[in-house]
Amino acid sequence: MYTNFCSRHVGSVGSTREAMIKELGYERIVDLIEDAVPSNIQGGPELDLPNALSETHALNRLRGIMAKNQLLKSYIGEGYNGTIVPPVIQRNILENPGWYTAYTPYQAEISQGRLEALLNFQTMISDLTALDVANSSLLDEGTAAAEAMALAKSGNRKGTTLFIADTCHQRTIDVVQTRAEPLGIEIVVGDWKSFDPSSCEGLFAVLLQYPDTLGSVDDYSSLIEAVHAAGALAIVAADILALTVLKAPGEFGADICVGNSQRFGVPFGFGGPHAAFMACTDKLKRKMPGRLIGVSVDSQGKPGYRLALQTREQHIRRDKATSNICTAQVLLAVMASMYAVYHGPDGLKQIAGNTHFAARILAASLKKAGYELLNESYFDTIVVKTPGKADAILAAAVEKGYNLRKIDGDHVAIAADETLGCKEGQDILAAFGVEDADIPEADQKAWAEGLTRTSDFCTSPVFNSYHSETEMMRYLSRLEKKDLALNESMIALGSCTMKLNAAAEMMPLSWPNVSSIHPFVPDNQSVGYREMLDELSDWLARITGFAAVSLQPNAGSQGEYAGLLAIRRYHLANGDTDRNVCLIPTSAHGTNPASAVMVGFKVVPVTCDEAGNIDVADLKAKAEKHAENLGALMITYPSTHGVYESTIVEICETIHTHGGQVYMDGANMNAQVGLTSPGFIGADVCHLNLHKTFCIPHGGGGPGVGPIGVAEQLVPYLPGHGSLENKEAPVCSAAYGSASINTISWMYIAMMGADGLTEATKMAILNANYVAKRLSTAYPILYTGNKGLVAHECIIDIRPLSDASGITVEDVAKRLMDYGYHSPTMSWPVAGTLMIEPTESESKAELDRFCDAMLAIHAEIQAVIDGSADKQDNLLKNAPHTAEMVISDSWTHPYSREEAAYPMACQRDHKFWPSVGRIDNVHGDRNLVCSCIGMEAFAE
Ligand SMILES: *Cc1c(COP(=O)(O)O)cnc(C)c1O
Repeated sequence: MYTNFCSRHVGSVGSTREAMIKELGYERIVDLIEDAVPSNIQGGPELDLPNALSETHALNRLRGIMAKNQLLKSYIGEGYNGTIVPPVIQRNILENPGWYTAYTPYQAEISQGRLEALLNFQTMISDLTALDVANSSLLDEGTAAAEAMALAKSGNRKGTTLFIADTCHQRTIDVVQTRAEPLGIEIVVGDWKSFDPSSCEGLFAVLLQYPDTLGSVDDYSSLIEAVHAAGALAIVAADILALTVLKAPGEFGADICVGNSQRFGVPFGFGGPHAAFMACTDKLKRKMPGRLIGVSVDSQGKPGYRLALQTREQHIRRDKATSNICTAQVLLAVMASMYAVYHGPDGLKQIAGNTHFAARILAASLKKAGYELLNESYFDTIVVKTPGKADAILAAAVEKGYNLRKIDGDHVAIAADETLGCKEGQDILAAFGVEDADIPEADQKAWAEGLTRTSDFCTSPVFNSYHSETEMMRYLSRLEKKDLALNESMIALGSCTMKLNAAAEMMPLSWPNVSSIHPFVPDNQSVGYREMLDELSDWLARITGFAAVSLQPNAGSQGEYAGLLAIRRYHLANGDTDRNVCLIPTSAHGTNPASAVMVGFKVVPVTCDEAGNIDVADLKAKAEKHAENLGALMITYPSTHGVYESTIVEICETIHTHGGQVYMDGANMNAQVGLTSPGFIGADVCHLNLHKTFCIPHGGGGPGVGPIGVAEQLVPYLPGHGSLENKEAPVCSAAYGSASINTISWMYIAMMGADGLTEATKMAILNANYVAKRLSTAYPILYTGNKGLVAHECIIDIRPLSDASGITVEDVAKRLMDYGYHSPTMSWPVAGTLMIEPTESESKAELDRFCDAMLAIHAEIQAVIDGSADKQDNLLKNAPHTAEMVISDSWTHPYSREEAAYPMACQRDHKFWPSVGRIDNVHGDRNLVCSCIGMEAFAE
C-alpha cells in the first residue's frame, strides 16, 4: 500500500487512525460521519472520477497531456512579456516550501521574512511609479485597473463616467467594462488625443496605457492637467520595465498607477499567476484596495513589519468596503521584488536598455528593408505595416519558433523583452523576409527626449547589496527562516484549510511547457493546457454536483464576484430587473458583502441564533419581505461556525420559492467533497478555493484560484473572454485566469481519486473532532451540531478565560509562537475565539503536540486567575519571547527564561524563534511608513 498517494496525503492511517476514532467513542469512521453529517444532505450521486494514480503515474500522465502544447518563444506583449527567472529565485522561492506554504502574514511576529519582501515590493513600485504609496499586490492588470476605477470613484460621489483610451490593452478594457456595468458607471472608450475632459459630463477618471498597447510612448501631461482641471483623476496602466527608463507616471501627474509585475522574473504560465501592482497618491492611500505592509515597532522598541490599516479590510468594513480583495499574489510579488533586489537599479536599467535596443535593431532593419512602422515612438513594442501579409508573416515566424502579435490583416506587432537576443532577432527578421540586420547607434532612444527618466529608483540598500548569487541565496534564506510556514508546524487556521501541498503536485509548475506559454498563443499551441483545464473543470463539476465550471476567477473573492454576476445576468435576462437584494448571514466572510455590493446588490443581513446556526425564521421573514426583489442568498456551508446546519436544504428551497438564487461560498468544501455537494444540497452556484481544498499552496497570501461551478440555468452566464467563443463579461485579463497553478489541483485529484478525496474529507472531520474533544476539557467549544460533533473545524471560546484573567485571545495567539505554532484563526467569525481547522494532512502526533501546547497555555492562564502569576508581567502578555529577550543580561520577569522560550520538552531538540517581539499595530497606523525609505525613523 505504500505507493498509494492518499496514505501520504492524510496524516494518520492504520492503528493511529483507529485509536482516534475510538477516542471519540466510535468503532468505525463511517459511524462518526453518519452522526456528524446531517442525513438529509448525505448521499447523492456517487462521485465518479478516474482511478487514483501514483505520484509517478500522475506525473507521467500530466507530462503526456502538457506535451501537446507547443513551446514557442512569444513576443506577443499585450501585458505579458518574456522574462528570465533567475535560477536562484526559482529554486529558493518558487520551488521552496519555506516560501510557498506560508499563510497571509496576519501573525506579523512570525512573518517578518515575507513582510520584508513585500515591503521591498511596495518600495520598488512606489519608486518606479513615483507615487507615494504602493500596495503589496493585486490579482492581475485588468482587475487592478477595475480596482483603480473603484478607488477613483470612491472619492467622487457625483462621478458617473470613466474615459478609457482606446490604446489600452483590450483585455483591460473588457474587464473594466464588466466591473463598471453593475455599478452604473458609464465607460467611454475613445481616442485620448481628441478627448476633452471639460466637455465630458460626470467624468471622474481617465484610464491611459503607458506605453500604449501598440507600443507608442506618449506624453500625457497636458491631458492629465485638463483631467485634473475637470475635477477628475488620472489612472495610468504602465509597463514595469519601461518605467526604469521612462519618465514615471507620478512625474506627469497620474493619481493612480497600475500594471503587471510579471516581466520581473515571473513566467507566463498561460496567463498567470502574476502580481499586479497599484500605487497612488498620499490622498488616496487610506482607501487603496488590497494589503498594505507598514513599519511599526515591537515591544523592545525595534522596527518590525506588519499589515497596516487593517481597519480597511472587508472583514471590518463589509458592505462598505471599497474592494473585495482577500487573497492576492504574494508569492509572485515576492519573486518580482527579488528580481529587483538581485539585479539592482543598474541591472534593471540594463535589461530595459537591452530590450529597447533589441526593438530598435528590429525597427531599423525592417525600415531599411522597406517596411513602415505604425509607431515612431516605442519602448519595446513596434507595429509593422504588412499590407495583406500579416498572416503569412505570422506563419513564417511560427515556422521558425516564434509567436508575434497579429493586430489585423495588415499589421504585425513585435514586443521585445530580455530573452530576445541576436539569434531571435535574426529569425524574426527572416520571417519578414529581411536578411540583413541594421545596427543603429547604441544610446539613442525611440521616444521624446522629455520622456526619459531622470529620477532615481530602488536606491535603498536592499536593492544594492545582494547581487552575487551567494549573497542573494543567503538573503533569501535569512528571510525564509523568519517565517513560520507549513514546513515548520501545523497551521490550523480555520476557514483557510492549510493542508499538504505535496511536492509531486508542485513539480509540473517548473516544466517549460507549463510555465512558458503566453496566454494569447494560437489555440493549436495550447492543446495540452486546454485538455488539462477541461479535465479539471469536469472533475470539479462532478465534485460540486454542477453542470459546468469556470476556472477564470483568480481568487475566492473573484469567484464570488463571477458567481453573483452570473446570478445578476440571469435575472436580467429573465426580465427581472429589480432582483437586487442579496441576503447574507451576519456570520459570513467579509468578502461576501463586499462582493455583493460590487455586483450591484443591496445587502440584507440575516441573523444567527445562539447555537451559531442561521436563524431560519429570520431568513424566511426576510425572504418573504423582499420576495419581489430577492436576487440571491450567499451562504457558507458548512457554516463559518464549523457546523453542518441540517436546515440547509430548507433554506435553499425558501430562497427558490421567492425567486432568488443560492450562492454557496465553498471555502469549506473540504468538509463536503465525496460526502455531499453544493449541487445536491440545492445551491445554484458555488466558488471553490483551489488554494484551500485543492492543495494550491497559499504562497504567503496568494496566488489562488477561485473557480465557480453553476447549475444548468446559469451556464450561459459564466465569464467569457475575448479569446473564447463566449466573449461576455470576463472577470480577469486571461481566459483561464491563473492557468498554470491548476496543474496542482489536477495532480491532487488525479492522485486521490474519488475514494481518496472522500477519505480526506472524513479524516478532516475526524481530526477536527479529535482536537475539539481534547481541548474541550479546558476550553468551551462554541458551536456543535448533531451529537455534539463539529464539521472540519471547531471554535474554542477564550472569552470566559479573558473575563477572569485579563488575558486576551491575542495574548494566546502570541504565546503559541513561543511553543512553535501559528495561531488558529483569531476572532473570526466570533470575536474573542480561536477557530481551529487541522485538515486531514496532520498526523495524530502533531495534533497531540498542538493540543498539549493549548492545554499548557490554559494552565498558564489559570495561574493568572489563581494569582500565582502576575496580571501584567506574565508569559502571555509578554509573548512572543525572542532569542534576544531571553539571552539578555537583564531579566526582570517573575517567570524563568526557560518557561518563556522552552515551554515544551520537544523544543530542546528544535526551536522556532519569533524574530521580533510583539508588534504595536496602533503606532504603525498612526505613523504610516510603507516603504524602506523612512525606516530610519523607526530604527531609533
Ligand atoms: C478564504 C475565504 C474567502 C475568500 O477567498 P480568497 O481566495 O481569499 O479571496 C471567502 N469566504 C470564506 C468563508 C473564506 O474562508
